Amino acid sequence: MQAFSDALASFWQIWSPNLTMDVGRYVIAAGGLALILKLFWNFGLGRRKIQARFPSHADVRREILASLRTGVLFSLTGVGIVFGAMHGVFSIYPDFETAGVLYLAISLVAIIVAHDAYFYWTHRLMHHPRLFRYFHRTHHRSVTPTPFAAYAFDVPEALLMSLFTPLWLLFVPMHVLGLFLFMAFMIVRNVMGHAGVELMPRALADSRWFGWINATTHHDLHHSSFHYNYGLYFTWWDRLMGTEHPAYREKLRGFREAPDAIGQYPSLAPGGAAISGVASAE
Ligand SMILES: [Zn+2]
Ligand SMILES: [Zn+2]
Repeated sequence: MQAFSDALASFWQIWSPNLTMDVGRYVIAAGGLALILKLFWNFGLGRRKIQARFPSHADVRREILASLRTGVLFSLTGVGIVFGAMHGVFSIYPDFETAGVLYLAISLVAIIVAHDAYFYWTHRLMHHPRLFRYFHRTHHRSVTPTPFAAYAFDVPEALLMSLFTPLWLLFVPMHVLGLFLFMAFMIVRNVMGHAGVELMPRALADSRWFGWINATTHHDLHHSSFHYNYGLYFTWWDRLMGTEHPAYREKLRGFREAPDAIGQYPSLAPGGAAISGVASAE
């Protein structure tokens, strides 16, 4: 009995900071962006709304509940990563003697590029008609996403997403700070992709040097049109595989279906009825 309660105590000791980090970064990033949208809506952001449609209260509630569940699942994977690191399976180091700042910077860029590829291909896999309803349906119930949709995953999708970091750590040693910055980058870019208003400069549409960076319109079109734009941070996989939405660049340049929405957000769609969105992958 003593051994069991000791094990439980040490589990909690590892789990609680992971839980705080994983749920905390979602709450801070999604809540922070929602607050920014509210504060600056009438100062320019309202004019950058992408869709004419508005999300409902039920949409936001569903997004938050599913995302909190994902945060808990991510934190359990985090426990596995800490255990793995303690037993030498993963190499996570805290100092700058093991490797310098240059290695930290290169490994950070590399993990972001690799994660974008992992996201693109697992995302396309989850759109397979046989897998969609189990893996990815919850995420696509948000046809007009809000920042709170960032982690709105079915359980299998959350587990698939959480597998990336331990897989990466099997092969690549990471500084603790590098991992932290990667997690921060991931959640910030994720909530930006679900903002519902274009947060990036419209010049990205035609930029020779920066056109490979995903604008909010990129992922928003994935939610509204379902069949294009599977990438997370960068446009290159979609361009290479021919899955970039044909109207992406034009929409990003400023073509809008939405009339000026000044004063309307975040007063959500009336009624608050759940909107079922895309019912299946077929
Ligand atoms: Zn999808
Ligand atoms: Zn999404």
